[in-house]
Amino acid sequence: MPKNSDPSNTGSRFPGSRGLVMREPTVFDRSTAGRIGCSLRDPGVPPVEPSSVIPAELLREGLEGFPEVSEAEAVRHFIRLSQWNYGVDTGPYPLGSCTMKYNPKINEWAALLEGFKDLHPMAPEELIQGALQLMFDLAGLLEEISGMDRVTLQPAAGAHGELTGMLMIRAYHASHGNPRSKVLIPDTAHGTNPASCSLANYRAVQIKSGPDGLIDPAEVDRLMDEEVAAIMVTNPNTLGLFESRIQQVAEIVHSRGGLVYCDGANLNAIMGITRPGDFGADVLHFNLHKTFSTPHGGGGPGSGPVGVTKALEPFLPVPIVVKDGDRYRLDLDQPDSIGKVRSFYGNFGVMVRAYAYIRELGAKGIKHASQMAVLNANYIKECLKEHFHLPYDAPCMHECVFSEKELADLGVKTMDLAKRLMDYGFHPPTVYFPLVVKVAIMIEPTETESKHDVDQFCGAMIAILKEAEQNPELLTGAPHKTRVGRLDEVKAVKDLKVRWTPEDD
Ligand SMILES: *Cc1c(COP(=O)(O)O)cnc(C)c1O
Repeated sequence: MPKNSDPSNTGSRFPGSRGLVMREPTVFDRSTAGRIGCSLRDPGVPPVEPSSVIPAELLREGLEGFPEVSEAEAVRHFIRLSQWNYGVDTGPYPLGSCTMKYNPKINEWAALLEGFKDLHPMAPEELIQGALQLMFDLAGLLEEISGMDRVTLQPAAGAHGELTGMLMIRAYHASHGNPRSKVLIPDTAHGTNPASCSLANYRAVQIKSGPDGLIDPAEVDRLMDEEVAAIMVTNPNTLGLFESRIQQVAEIVHSRGGLVYCDGANLNAIMGITRPGDFGADVLHFNLHKTFSTPHGGGGPGSGPVGVTKALEPFLPVPIVVKDGDRYRLDLDQPDSIGKVRSFYGNFGVMVRAYAYIRELGAKGIKHASQMAVLNANYIKECLKEHFHLPYDAPCMHECVFSEKELADLGVKTMDLAKRLMDYGFHPPTVYFPLVVKVAIMIEPTETESKHDVDQFCGAMIAILKEAEQNPELLTGAPHKTRVGRLDEVKAVKDLKVRWTPEDD
């Protein structure tokens, strides 16, 4: 397509993307025999034949196919690959439910301080007082933000926090004579909720949300019996709506001996404004890598601390960091604990980043971050609702959810819109989730995006809708400008191919 006829290239309205994204084969294909990437000084000692010092069975016979490249080639290889990538440091990343936060660089400085990064996990307590203090203080900050009585930092991610929470709920009920058998989960829940509940050996019972996208207390009342161990509520829910009747729901569940599990992965919309501990949660998990900023996606590491009320404290996983006078220590002596859920103490580097983030923002900044997340999402909702069908037209929290109606009427798919957004220089939003909306487009703008960037994003969405009407092949063939076009994702999983051939271009 001639560049100038492509609307995504018009003037300075969109970041777009032009040129200089290099093709790059695998490092094996780049290899030239004899090339070396490092230049070591002559060590000044006589060379030793490896077989004279290493037993034969431990010696590799050869290194067939080992890539041999110069330092410059190795650097170019990885820099070029990194340039095919897209991250929140490249541009807006409006992936709903995933909370792609900007990660302040000072967090990295803190996490890379030698006293933190070089700590050995087996180091004795007297040598890790600073690290223990950071963990103790971070748990305290999370308790204050959430209104929960006690927080464990061990779980390695959100879903792991859910499992930890459900195991504590099981231990709590078992200690009262009956672990119970069911957990109520609304149809707006994140997929990890029913999965965690079934791993903890509970049966998930779905609650159908009301016409306003919220839980209907009457429905909870109907389903709630003495076999229900807990209700698992995400608040704000995955439609981006605040469960405004949560207190009433919690009262119904508590009145029949059940517990309230709150999925707080997306606490970034309410921190500093309201607290799950105050609206009835007995157990809550946080996603430090979402709400409290740590780079995430592509496999972690994450951190999913869990907060509980006093009644559940005895069941927390061990070790727990405690403070005796001015010393910190790890307490393993908890007879009712569900045990260990993670090696050592959890993902410490993520804790340092979250601690730095909370301390940098302070109480005012934490609240402001939530307010900006909500403002940005509502701004997008208002900009786009004239153009895209908004199934639940109510003030939203940190994300807003549209449906594919307009696109479907024009005969194009939501996936086409998502792919075309890449040509405009944006990461696509979450699509096809949550399932309660028929083909959802779920947009969560990062709270640090400026009005300028949010306007550009909305402009791109509207421009693509116009293309769908006038020039639908721009969508169905998209993306046109990325290094690789539309991939067969199912085949890519089943038929992994890591070698590049010129025909692949
Ligand atoms: C992201 C998310 C999870 C899962 O968190 P992971 O860290 O990916 O395991 C659970 N619930 C909600 C609502 C989420 O957004």
